[in-house]
Amino acid sequence: MSTIPRRKFIQLSAVAAVGCLAQPGREARAADLPHVSEDDPMAKAMKYSHDASTVDASARTNPAADQNCANCALIQGADGDAWRPCQIFPGKAVAAAGWCSVWAPKA
Ligand code: SF4
Repeated sequence: MSTIPRRKFIQLSAVAAVGCLAQPGREARAADLPHVSEDDPMAKAMKYSHDASTVDASARTNPAADQNCANCALIQGADGDAWRPCQIFPGKAVAAAGWCSVWAPKA
């Protein structure tokens, strides 16, 4: 049984709802993020590429087909955007058509 008082639960729910409605502002900030460089040491360590089609599929740890940043579980931001935030590269945007070795399928 939850120990959160009903009034507090309603307040927290309202804050969460406002956060969801604030999505347009968050997307505007995402568009301002610098693009991750393929020469970035972290990007190199993760074998990141701006173009998933250039990655040798046989070298991937995960055998799933059609892997790219847009269908990765770690991508953030809005569907359809060419450049989006990624949990692996905080403060930078990755190409939706890109790929890295951390790729994981969306649930
Ligand atoms: Fe792309 Fe996913 Fe790698 Fe981020 S973790 S760079 S979204 S493949």
